[in-house]
Amino acid sequence: MGVIRRTGMFVLQVNPILCDSFGHCAELAPELVHLDEWGYPIISSEPVPMADIGAYESARYAERGCPRKALHIAKINHPRPEGPVSRGRGTV
Ligand code: SF4
Repeated sequence: MGVIRRTGMFVLQVNPILCDSFGHCAELAPELVHLDEWGYPIISSEPVPMADIGAYESARYAERGCPRKALHIAKINHPRPEGPVSRGRGTV
């Protein structure tokens, strides 16, 4: 049996069209999800290391437990480069 190494980063994403705003995800992954005043999830867009097993497992619980299938774990193999953020044609 080999050792599983988790490399890269992930971001938990929400599809606001599917979300029903009952906030179940904030109970399943309180370290990743906070709710706004209407119950919609607020999730940081900062990538989280896959090696953070606790955070990754919480994200998986939330993704699986979302009754509307509105959550998705996006895996990022290359963290965002530092420097100006490009949006469309311009640079911010
Ligand atoms: S569990 Fe799913 S549907 Fe419910 S608030 Fe969270 S993202 Fe929205």
